[in-house]
Amino acid sequence: MSRVRVLVPPDALAEPRWELTGADHHYCVRVRRLRPGDELFLFDGQGAEFAARVLELEPDRLVVALGDRMTEPARPGPRLVSLTPLVKGDRTEWAVQKLVELGASTIVPFRSSRGVVKLDSARADSRQRRLQAVADGAARQCERRDRVEVARPTDLAGALGHAAVAAADARFVLWAAERGTSLVAALAGASPAAIAVLAGPEGGLALPEIDAAVAAGFAPVSLGPRVLRAETAVVAAAAVVQALVGDLST
Ligand code: SAH
Repeated sequence: MSRVRVLVPPDALAEPRWELTGADHHYCVRVRRLRPGDELFLFDGQGAEFAARVLELEPDRLVVALGDRMTEPARPGPRLVSLTPLVKGDRTEWAVQKLVELGASTIVPFRSSRGVVKLDSARADSRQRRLQAVADGAARQCERRDRVEVARPTDLAGALGHAAVAAADARFVLWAAERGTSLVAALAGASPAAIAVLAGPEGGLALPEIDAAVAAGFAPVSLGPRVLRAETAVVAAAAVVQALVGDLST
């Protein structure tokens, strides 16, 4: 059984005891069947994690006592910022979950001209909350201590202008028509502090969109001879980055 981990506000970790209610209570008591004396872990999404133990169990609240702080894991490798296209059905959710498992730091969902999903701005907030919840669930499951930020879905220009994208010192746009440079070759010997990777939606990126990405400092790269589905390309790129310059080998 995997460890029971609950995301709490940073203040909670300064307290000797903490009370879990609502969805956290449900998860601990109904899903994971914790009982008094059982161990769980509280983490704040900013790198701190404490062992804790169940003290009291009530129908609507769980009181836990905080124990030892867990030691910091080494965090080798660059930050990975994924500009992820909104795609049909629940495939964006799937991509977000896999990106969290593969160590992405920031996910910037966007819609583009050839994408099937047309998201109006009224729905962008609820979509952000849904995708953030998927990311938080995945972080808990894969035992990450940091929180992966999912940005509010935006258009391509908004995604290219996101602060984490601007801060990246290596930027790549995945382009199936690129035959010159592969992502693997582009990363060989590199040691960037932060990498931004942009993939297109089902219909691919239109040429003006590739141009806009290039103007924003993105180098076009290929992921090999097969045309991958958008969500496969997003996840494969994350695995390539982590294998070559990240933490898959540690
Ligand atoms: N028919 C579309 C295919 C889109 S695939 C087109 O012609 O562009 C969805 C996205 O996945 C693409 O926009 C690209 O970013 C990425 N992708 C898929 N296969 C790829 C490959 N072999 N190399 C690089 N990027 C790829």
